[in-house]
Amino acid sequence: MPEPDGELLALRNRVSDLDQRIVQLIAERFRVVADVAREKAASDTAIRDSDRERQILAAVEHIARTEGAPVNLVRRIYRDLLAESVSRQVSSRSGVQREVTLRVAVRGEHSFGYLAAQKYLSARDVAGDLIVTRTYQAAVDALKDGDVDLAVLPIENTAAGSVDETYDLLREHEVSIVGEETSSVDYCLCGVSEIPLGAISQVLAAGDGLEQCSRFVETLPNASQILHFDTGAAMRLVHTAGDPTRVAIGAPEAAAAHGLVVLRRGIANHAENYTRFVVLARHPVAVELSAPCKTSLILITRHEHGALMRSLGVLAASGHSMTKLESRPRPGRPFEYMFFIDFEGNTADPRTADALDDLRSTALHLKVLGSYPATTTKSDAQPGDATPLVPPLADADAVESVVPPRLPTKASKNYRLAGRGARSDDTVIPVGNLLIGGGGFLVMAGPCSVESADQINATARAVREAGAQILRGGVFKPRTSPYAFQGLGWDGLELLAAAGRATGMPIISEVMAVDQVRRMAEMVDVLQVGTRNMQNFDLLRELGKVDRPILLKRGLSSTIDEWLGAAEYILAIGNQQVMLCERGIRTFETSTRNTLDLCAIPVLRELTHLPVIVDPSHGTGHRAYVAPMAKAARAAGAHGLLIEVHPDPDRALSDAEQSLSFPEFLALMRSLQTVAPAS
Ligand code: PEP
Ligand code: MN
Repeated sequence: MPEPDGELLALRNRVSDLDQRIVQLIAERFRVVADVAREKAASDTAIRDSDRERQILAAVEHIARTEGAPVNLVRRIYRDLLAESVSRQVSSRSGVQREVTLRVAVRGEHSFGYLAAQKYLSARDVAGDLIVTRTYQAAVDALKDGDVDLAVLPIENTAAGSVDETYDLLREHEVSIVGEETSSVDYCLCGVSEIPLGAISQVLAAGDGLEQCSRFVETLPNASQILHFDTGAAMRLVHTAGDPTRVAIGAPEAAAAHGLVVLRRGIANHAENYTRFVVLARHPVAVELSAPCKTSLILITRHEHGALMRSLGVLAASGHSMTKLESRPRPGRPFEYMFFIDFEGNTADPRTADALDDLRSTALHLKVLGSYPATTTKSDAQPGDATPLVPPLADADAVESVVPPRLPTKASKNYRLAGRGARSDDTVIPVGNLLIGGGGFLVMAGPCSVESADQINATARAVREAGAQILRGGVFKPRTSPYAFQGLGWDGLELLAAAGRATGMPIISEVMAVDQVRRMAEMVDVLQVGTRNMQNFDLLRELGKVDRPILLKRGLSSTIDEWLGAAEYILAIGNQQVMLCERGIRTFETSTRNTLDLCAIPVLRELTHLPVIVDPSHGTGHRAYVAPMAKAARAAGAHGLLIEVHPDPDRALSDAEQSLSFPEFLALMRSLQTVAPAS
């Protein structure tokens, strides 16, 4: 290159002087902003003032127009300046440590998610290592395994709509949304050097690039399309090939990183192309109450007329503005839906925590995905109006619960959600095509333990013919002695599931450990918590996360208050499909195995809206007493029974004395019909 002559040199020096002044002015602006932050903190003024931001933007656009500067450019620069100001104010107030280096998983090198992650980190002045994964699932796995601190996943695109895979991952995994980032997706054609479009022989790109720029790519007369795993791979190949007829699609930043030049900007099918990304962490973080905040949740509505409207009404009535509502099919339940809802609110705010409690009582299942500083809100944002705010990254692991514990009110004691105060209508729980609770009555029957295919198949047929609706069978057995039969485990569950399918009955089985919950929830229709585990709080919390009905047996020495407190654990985490099962308690009486507390039925019916089931098998321990107590339970107002039945009761590997033969069970079912249910 020739040395610049005198005139060009003089011009370049002037440009350099101007740059110095621009940067000095930016630095000065931030120093003043720091003073503003101190003033606001001293007077406890909210950090974000949308009106003020709009005024600033209008003012600088006006100046740009009168001074002849490009208005769009000035607007973009000022949006970034304002975003950075707010972000600095939040972090100075929440004392974020900036020394940490965060590891962030993103799918694909130089993908737009990769760039969004970079933008997220730099807006917060936090150093980060980006870990590239091949799939979104792998990014979430890396997060859950502790290999990374954050994962950045796209959630919606203004042209392509919602990213279903991300929604599914949010539903399936225990991760929290701790931030969001919106970026404008500027698809460009990039190559090693300028080339007429007609001479292009190959376009290399990742799937999203080819899809979203399809119209432009189709206008290239001689180009074939080559799909690459990510933009980084496509650009690297174009660079190393050094062939100007081979070009790639990607962001200008990606082109610069790979030594390519931008040949054509704005080649996407839709000019306004923005993607919103969610930033995920293993645990929720608490967001400053003064910062603009959004909360995301997954809601499964009850099977009631107008259930969704009622749920949305709870948000509206409590002054929470909804920013997004998305429905997704409910896995394993054709034509039923779950809803993903974003609204402006903060779980750390008691008003929002109250609204969430109210929402829980309108729902079958509610999962709070997290509260996070909002970058887009319905009231003041256009797409791409990214105003990144800092989540308190310092110690995400320190905040354990999504919803801060609230002091119970006197009336509802330990169980505000389980209590009638939360819901006067009875909870009705769908299981397959059946409904448990409310005005119905049903019988679950089967062996104490699944012992063999023949045993469970024969029992399934017999109880079905006698009129039972749900098949029971234990496979993980909580036995008093470690030398007693412990159950057939997962193999037994396969047998139970097959017997249920063959007879068209939903199945119920006991879950004993936290690590069994997910797998069992996929195989059984109702998860039973045994008496010995009623206060296994870790187990209860895990059950709160699954979308499956739970039958919670009463602890053998537990009061009704403690029992409802245990149910509350499941409800408070999100799963509202809990039924209670009275199975007898320890008393001084020894002539029966336990004392079946029939008094609990009317007491529960008064105190709680949850369905009440009675197990007269464990409640008495003797086959002869099962039928009388079953009838008594129905008369007292139970919603159903759980009864042990065996083809050859005396040979049963567990609970032989209390198991009914097939004829005894049939007789019981007939005699139940003579009992008038409690009104
Ligand atoms: C069972 O239902 O077989 C069982 C073990 O029950 P419980 O937990 O009530 O003893
Ligand atoms: Mn048993």
